[in-house]
Formats: sequence, structure tokens, C-alpha cells
Amino acid sequence: MKIFFILISLCVQLTFAQSDVINNLYHDYQKFREKSFTNKEVKHDEITPLIESLKDNDIFELQCVRTSLLNREIYRIKLGKGEKKIFLWSQMHGDEHTATKAIFDILNFFKSSDENYKSFKEELLNQLSIYIIPMINPDGAAINNRRNLFEIDLNRDALNPQSPESKILMSSFQEIEPLFSFNLHDQYSNYSVGKTNKTAAISFLAPSTGEKTENPSQIRSKQLIVNLAKSLNRFIPGHIAKYSDEYEPRAFGDNFQKLGGGVILIESGGWKADDKKNFIRKLNFLTLIDAMSSIAKNTYTDAQLEEYNQIPFNQRRHFDLILRNVKIEKNGNTIMVDIGINKSESRQQSTIIEDIGDLSNYFGVTEFDFSGYMVERGKSKELTKEMGQVELFDLLKNGYTSVILKNDVKLRNNLPQNIITRQPTSNFEYYKKSAELIIRKAYSIEYIIVKNKIYNVRKNLVMDF
Ligand SMILES: [Zn+2]
Repeated sequence: MKIFFILISLCVQLTFAQSDVINNLYHDYQKFREKSFTNKEVKHDEITPLIESLKDNDIFELQCVRTSLLNREIYRIKLGKGEKKIFLWSQMHGDEHTATKAIFDILNFFKSSDENYKSFKEELLNQLSIYIIPMINPDGAAINNRRNLFEIDLNRDALNPQSPESKILMSSFQEIEPLFSFNLHDQYSNYSVGKTNKTAAISFLAPSTGEKTENPSQIRSKQLIVNLAKSLNRFIPGHIAKYSDEYEPRAFGDNFQKLGGGVILIESGGWKADDKKNFIRKLNFLTLIDAMSSIAKNTYTDAQLEEYNQIPFNQRRHFDLILRNVKIEKNGNTIMVDIGINKSESRQQSTIIEDIGDLSNYFGVTEFDFSGYMVERGKSKELTKEMGQVELFDLLKNGYTSVILKNDVKLRNNLPQNIITRQPTSNFEYYKKSAELIIRKAYSIEYIIVKNKIYNVRKNLVMDF
């Protein structure tokens, strides 16, 4: 009996110890954050010097596994000498950058000489062998494109891999035979947790094997997810979801699960006013270190599968912005509607009006009640000579949300307006159109929406949404 109690108290201590480390890391994160990434996107030439710098440090083993179609080196980094092997890869989709940045934060954590985490790191490196391929699709990343140079979605190329990047992933997996695999992606930032008003900041999935019964690989993935979700919930209560578990026979996650790789899909979602996903990146850092700790200490094995089932699925019940109770006018008729707007995930597209009408059962990551205001489409102006920033802002304040460049006028694309090539044909269309909007009260223009921004004309303020 006494031994039993000692065991129990030891387990409690271990659990506390682990959660304390993650809690401390939450506060110490800035120490390890890789400072050289300044944009939302991250490209191969930004990670190359960081990988090169690992060569000077004994704890890392570096291997250039192959080059991409455009001759960019794809590296595999190994650290730790433990029996339990884990494998992480990021940016299989070139426009999904968040986890790549978090991986370099993690490498900084292992590089650091911070005494507070010394024994924790030693235990991880003794128990685990950690294999990491950051940015498996560098050619896609270079142009912020989901697909590779062949325009192939690598995550549909697992059955009989054709692209060099897919071959690297498959052969690395077969060589490593990991106990756990982490498939790191980004998802739309406006997914919600079930039908709630909370954004899905992080979504997990233990991919299916396509079989009716679960294999041991899927069971241990689910158990680890239960632990990770609980731990993360301290920092972002209610913002954790489960990704759709539909079986996709051509995807790597599903195939690796079949092969026993203990696959965990982590999707980086959205957080209010976190356009560059800095906070989501921090959550990636925490949850991946938490996972390493949980695997090293075997603390996931007691988790109840029922708790996995209770994690709500992702849903698209959110818009990035909802304008509530605005009036729109058509052919002399005025009605009141809500307008749901989504910002673009990539720079190539503009902000889109996703839906219009009664959106009372939807949520906006940002919402404004514009009762009494009128919304109409922005105007466009032909520019026949170059204009300075001040003049362009004056045009914007007068409702000109786009410009058409004539007579070879060249302007850099950092102007407040969208550049278009011809005059819009109708002033009355909203649905699925670019969200270039004027919001006015009586005849006075009060707000302008263009390019993921709201301008408060009266106060001269700009807000990202
Ligand atoms: Zn993806």
C-alpha cells in the first residue's frame, strides 16, 4: 500500500514537473524565439544560414538529404541519442510557414545554455532521437505557393511518390521508423471550434488508417493529443479543435499511420490580431516541446481515448470581419444586412466579401455594429501621372479604393488602394467580390475598407483586421 502511494505521489510530481516546464517556457519564450524571421512568410534563404550555424554545435547532426527541383538543399537535422524516435517535418505546403519558424525556436531552445532547462533537455536528448526536416517544399515556399514546382500537392503524392520532395519524406520515414511523427501545417485562420465563437488556434488530428478498427499507432497518437490539448488549454481555453478525420488514401499522414508511425497532424489556425501568426508559432513551440516531454516520460500512455472524442471538430463558422446591421441600397430599395468578410491568406488575392444577409449564427474574429451606416462599393480612379502617398490617401478618404494605372504610370504596390486593370462593370455587386467598401453616415464617409484594413477617416486611424 505504501509503495502504491509513493508511486502515485511520484507520478503527480512528474506530471507537475512537466507542466511546470511548459508553463515556464510560456513565459521564457522570447529567449528562444528566432529573431531573424521578420515576415509572415519564411523562405529557404532565411533558414539556410540558421541550419549552417548548427554545424558548430555537437548536439546536432546535419544531413543534406537531397535538393529540390530548383536545387535548394533540403536538410534533415538529428538531435538526441535516445531509443524513442520522433520525426517532424514542416511546410510540405509552401505557403504554410508557421511551424517552420517554431522549429527554429525549438532548435534555439536546445542550443541555449540556459541552466534552468539543462536537466530537462538532457532527459529529452537521452530518451529521444529527434529527426527534423524543416521546409520540405522550399520551391513552393519561395513563391508562397501551396504546391511544388510541378504544381503537385505533395500531400496527395504519398502512395507512389513522384516528386523528389515526396520521395525524401517517404524514404526518411522508412529509414527512421518513428514512434511518433508530426505533420505540421497551417489552416485558415477563421475556422472555429465546433459551433462556438472561439477560433481554432490549434487543431490536432490522429489521422485515420481507413480501417474500421484503430491500430496501436492511431491509439497512441490519440492519447498524446489528449495530453497536448489539455496542456495547451491552460493558455488558450476553448481554442483547440480536431481537424476533419476523413480518410485520404493519398496523404502522407494517413499512410504513415497505417505504417505505424504514430502520426499527429498539427494545424496552425488563427488568433485575433495575430496576422503574422506569432502567437500561434509560440503555441507550436510549446506543444512540440510538450510532446517531446510526454513521449520521453511516457506520460501519454494513461490518457483516456474518450477525451480525444470530446475535442470538438473544426468548423467554418467564422469570418475575419463581420459588419453588423449595415444598410445597402439597390435600385432605390434599402435593406439591412450583415456582411461577412474574409481576408486573403496570400498576398496575391484581395479581401473578399464571403457572405451577405442574416449572419446572426456566425461570428466575426472582429465585429463592428454599424447600425445606421450605409455601405457601398469603393470607387476607382484612373491615374495618368505618378502620385505621392499623401495624395493617394486623400483619394482614399474620398472613397477611391482602387486605381487604374494609365500612360505607363508605375507605382509600387504599397499604396493604400488596390491596383486594378479596368473599370469595375457594376457598382452594385457585393457577393464574392473584393471587399473595397465605403461606410458612410448620411453623406459623410466615415470608414473605408480595403486590403485587410479598416481606415477610420474622421480619426485618421488604420486598423488591420
Ligand atoms: Zn497544409
